[in-house]
Amino acid sequence: MPGFELFGPEERKEVNDVLETGIYMRYGFDGPRKGIWKSKELEAAICETFGVKYAQLTSSGTSALSTALAILGIGFGDEVIMPTFTFVASFEAVLSVGAIPVLVDVDETLTLDPASVRRAITPRTKCVMPVHMCGSMADLDALQAICKEHQLILLEDACQSIGAQYKGKALGTIGHAGTFSFDFVKTITCAEGGAVLTNSEDLYIKADGYTDHGHDHAGVDRGADLHPFIGYNYRISELHAAVGLAQIRKLDKFLAIQKKNHQQLKAILSTVPEITFRQIPDPAGDSCTFLSWFLPTEAITRSLVAELKEQGILPGNFYWFDNNWHYYRKWTHLHQGASLNRLNDEQQAALKRLSPEAFPVSDRVIGRCISTAISLAWTEEQLKEKGEKIVAAVKKVLSREKAAV
Ligand SMILES: *Cc1c(COP(=O)(O)O)cnc(C)c1O
Repeated sequence: MPGFELFGPEERKEVNDVLETGIYMRYGFDGPRKGIWKSKELEAAICETFGVKYAQLTSSGTSALSTALAILGIGFGDEVIMPTFTFVASFEAVLSVGAIPVLVDVDETLTLDPASVRRAITPRTKCVMPVHMCGSMADLDALQAICKEHQLILLEDACQSIGAQYKGKALGTIGHAGTFSFDFVKTITCAEGGAVLTNSEDLYIKADGYTDHGHDHAGVDRGADLHPFIGYNYRISELHAAVGLAQIRKLDKFLAIQKKNHQQLKAILSTVPEITFRQIPDPAGDSCTFLSWFLPTEAITRSLVAELKEQGILPGNFYWFDNNWHYYRKWTHLHQGASLNRLNDEQQAALKRLSPEAFPVSDRVIGRCISTAISLAWTEEQLKEKGEKIVAAVKKVLSREKAAV
């Protein structure tokens, strides 16, 4: 799964280039930096690799989302439709710009259910934010059609799906804007970092300024820049961009390993008829960072999780239903509006309506789901052993279940 598994001399070389000049900032210092522009180089590599016109690097995936929402004009009182299954960063970003996160059910794609999105639209809805969870995609044709029909913005949170595609186009490049995360556990890493992707020059110029205090980057030096709008500091450093530059050159290799391992593990789990798999709108475009699969009931899934834990083989198998960070049920701080400073009244009112039992349809999906992380480091034997142990545990739990009825 994550690029840090294959960290090596390539990353070290890129970082050393920056250490040798001592210019850690991405802007300015044109003389002393001696032609070393890692952030600019990485942005160009992102455009080239993912087939998008513009990329703006940021300090994190979360700041990339905040930036994307702001440059798309989303703010106070606007509703943003997002899924019940995502990383907390998605709602944090919505709250950060003053907007209201509106949670909506997921289906067996583990992403937004288009019919539920339709039902959640109100006159205040401004944006639909699918989150391409665990390496694979939402039904973008359906979501694009809804956005067109209702004149809504489509913002793709592709933080977890770098390198995945939908019908030949990279995830993150299909909506009005998209975001990547390069945090330490993502497909490729900068240690910390993110990116906003867009094909709109206007949005890109806004992202370029917004992430750097509103600088228009048109002056002869930073002090001479003008500030056409308010911005913040969401800059990436040259050291982080250097790591990412080495990583993006390895992306094809990472994806090839993931796809091979995913296919082999899926073949092993497929021998159990009770196991079914995540629906993937375009299977050829899956980046294969995870293999996500279902058991028939929540009770059986819980028994399996307990069994895997007892055998010491749970790590790497994620039961999101009980997870504090990736599923709405345990986002108690969101339900309670537990903010250190005052949220705006409309946000507070919207959060009051949330509860941990509000989405039984999602619960029936996520309650039966396990995602197995695909490692880049597995040997063939390790993969086989891992798969066979899971299969044996599933069979044990299923036969116990049968004996009980
Ligand atoms: C990781 C992640 C983010 C945020 O990225 P950071 O770089 O950790 O801030 C946002 N959304 C999703 C779905 C993620 O997995």
